[in-house]
Amino acid sequence: MEKGTGRTAKRGEGARRRKMMKCPYCENKKTRVIDSRAVDEGGSIRRRRLCEACGGRFTTFERRERVEVAVLKGDGHLEAYDRSKLSAGIYMACNKRDISEEVIESVIDSIEEEIMRAQSKEIDSSAVGRMVMERLRGIDEVAYMRFASVCKKFDDASEFQKEYGELKQFDRSA
Ligand SMILES: [Zn+2]
Repeated sequence: MEKGTGRTAKRGEGARRRKMMKCPYCENKKTRVIDSRAVDEGGSIRRRRLCEACGGRFTTFERRERVEVAVLKGDGHLEAYDRSKLSAGIYMACNKRDISEEVIESVIDSIEEEIMRAQSKEIDSSAVGRMVMERLRGIDEVAYMRFASVCKKFDDASEFQKEYGELKQFDRSA
């Protein structure tokens, strides 16, 4: 992929509106998400909500804007941003920790918002890693440490090669 090619991002696209989800029964604005799942291959999210005022339940669909940015990996190659990859890494770091899916999804959403706000066509994978760490640090120490250790390891190619070399050596001696 070359710099300067591809679609131009429309201005303001980055401002993903977080619509207030009003209760359809009593119009109260305070609602709680009781279940959320990705649908449409992750393109939308379906949320089951509970109104804190009247106890009414309703479902909302929120469309996700596709984040179109190229991620510059440590080894120098570019790859299209993929929410599922980012999400896999974060879920792995949060594995068995007491962190709800809702919290994790909102971490991912806010990272995507930050990426879109930058309105750049390219972003370093280490910058994305830092965005994740910044957020995880405030949520769960263990998840943060897990993610940070993976990031540091693969931050740049030489580190990766070192790690990989060590693994191979280990293989040989086994
Ligand atoms: Zn209500």
